[in-house]
Amino acid sequence: MNLIPDSKAYYWLAWQDKWVINPLAAEKLPLSGSALGKNFIASHQQVFGTWRGQPCYLVELVENSVLPDGLEAKGLRALTYSLSEEIFSLTGRAAQLLFWEKTHQFCSRCGTAVELHPQERAKHCPACHMIFYPKITPAMIVLVQRGNQVLLSRSPHFAQGLYSVQAGFVEAGESVEETVVREIREEVGLEVKNVRYFGSQAWPFPSSLMLGFTAEYAWGELRPHPVEIEDARWCSLDDLPALLPSKLSIASRLIKSFIDQQNLLRP
Ligand SMILES: [Zn+2]
Repeated sequence: MNLIPDSKAYYWLAWQDKWVINPLAAEKLPLSGSALGKNFIASHQQVFGTWRGQPCYLVELVENSVLPDGLEAKGLRALTYSLSEEIFSLTGRAAQLLFWEKTHQFCSRCGTAVELHPQERAKHCPACHMIFYPKITPAMIVLVQRGNQVLLSRSPHFAQGLYSVQAGFVEAGESVEETVVREIREEVGLEVKNVRYFGSQAWPFPSSLMLGFTAEYAWGELRPHPVEIEDARWCSLDDLPALLPSKLSIASRLIKSFIDQQNLLRP
């Protein structure tokens, strides 16, 4: 379908699994409806929220679209270092909804094509009446501290030089606190105590909800998992790695809280 932009609305255009941005604008995203031409063909469109009192549209462009001069497309991960927190959050919501749209087209019980639910942001099966909500996968992320040191590690798929706190998915039947204890045991061979909730963040890669915790080292010797952990180390304020997670991530908020606490304790 031809996209006919609403001049007052804001647009998140997805194209080939990337987001169309205006690299020269103060806010690279979203694109204003008034600045969009009418030469876009959309394969999917929905309103997913409001920004500055105006509707936010998620539009997926057909694969063979050609972007007009001045616009370019970037993956969401690449954008985490250049979006504001508010826009990252809205873009993450759009990304999760688009991922769900593309991966939930049939009923997982009976195989019938699902339809949009008339009242809720959900899909329903016209044959067996199952209702499907957008999939959200809970995961924990934890900062483990030992005295004036924080445990940082890197997995083999991280960008070169990047270290972060530990994270892992919640398994069926598990409380998130149990996930914290199990993951730290499995990934680095340590036991932790005093697990405390810190805060949460939607993390759209592709549809996680990160539940943040702090914990204290209890006992054990650092033994990084041979496949999942490339390196793990205890770091004090003076020997933190040069590359840490994007400021938009809850990982960064956890590390910042450690840095702030340590700075307060300095003589
Ligand atoms: Zn069904």
